[in-house]
Amino acid sequence: MHITSIFDEHKTSFSFEFFPPKTEKGYNKLFRTIRDLKPLQPSSISVTYGAGGSTRKLTHDLVLKIHQETDLTVIPHLTCINAKKDEIYSLVKDYADNGIENIFVIRGDAPQGQEDGDHAVKDFRYAVDLVRFIKKHFPRMGMGVAGFPEGHPDTPNRLKEMEYLKEKIDAGADYMITQMCFDNRDFFDFRERCELMGIDVPIIAGIMPITSRKNMYRMSDLAAGSRFPAKLQRAIHRVDEDERVENVGVHWATSQVLELLDNEVNGIHFYTLNKSMATRRIYEALGTTNSRQLAI
Ligand SMILES: Cc1cc2nc3c(=O)[nH]c(=O)nc-3n(C[C@H](O)[C@H](O)[C@H](O)COP(=O)(O)OP(=O)(O)OC[C@H]3O[C@@H](n4cnc5c(N)ncnc54)[C@H](O)[C@@H]3O)c2cc1C
Repeated sequence: MHITSIFDEHKTSFSFEFFPPKTEKGYNKLFRTIRDLKPLQPSSISVTYGAGGSTRKLTHDLVLKIHQETDLTVIPHLTCINAKKDEIYSLVKDYADNGIENIFVIRGDAPQGQEDGDHAVKDFRYAVDLVRFIKKHFPRMGMGVAGFPEGHPDTPNRLKEMEYLKEKIDAGADYMITQMCFDNRDFFDFRERCELMGIDVPIIAGIMPITSRKNMYRMSDLAAGSRFPAKLQRAIHRVDEDERVENVGVHWATSQVLELLDNEVNGIHFYTLNKSMATRRIYEALGTTNSRQLAI
């Protein structure tokens, strides 16, 4: 389903993010996870794209498999750093030909040691360039872009950053998903700043339930700009076993979701790390078995 129809139909959208596994075991586990999460009736699910296109084929094949074998709306992520126009054109065309109606467009990050990507490939510098390219060649493709409530480290000037964000929307993005955020105050303030900029697309809050200390440290590496509030860190330090860390993470994320829903968030995007348990427990804690019940 096209993302604009999803927003027309759902007062609040709920989406789950997965990454493409590299082994058969991981692949089978992911399909079990998708089976477990499907009854929650997400509005869409998305599949990440490895840094610098490293999972180009894996992402593509997984997206088409989910699209062909389930009735879920699946949205591929696509990055543009180091990418060539002809590669991007053929990939997006293939998605469009196979009935994929939306793409989540991000810049990606340069491999370690390179400052802004492969200097030999300069077809796209920022995500906005990819948004413009897709809009020009595939005008019907729905597009999402990333937003950073706590700021993106590459642009310390927070006013300019909002101008760059507005450029992505004006170039044709239909919605925005935020970097994971552990303090809703940051999300609400960001939403107000978007409003001041005249950004009027749905803004989806990125939520990541912490399930272990290891996963928190891993995410703090990947999650550019995200702050781990002292209150959350204290709660995690109080507990010993990882099983209990997951309890803290689920409780924290559930409280965030409740407050976001009470404040008319357009949507919630769960970073699942290919696991179903934490997301299912959040729904259970909210007393519901599917997304439609949550969106009242
Ligand atoms: C929901 C979500 C999903 C993600 N999925 C993936 C994924 O699948 N694969 C992956 O590799 N990464 C992913 N990322 C990470 C993302 O690629 C990085 O955070 C990247 O550093 C920024 O991407 P962007 O699209 O925001 O880039 P951009 O919008 O290009 O911004 C990057 C930086 O450049 C600045 N900037 C933008 N335009 C200009 C301009 N005209 N002049 C000067 N500066 C400018 C911005 O302020 C920002 O600091 C995801 C992030 C989020 C929030």
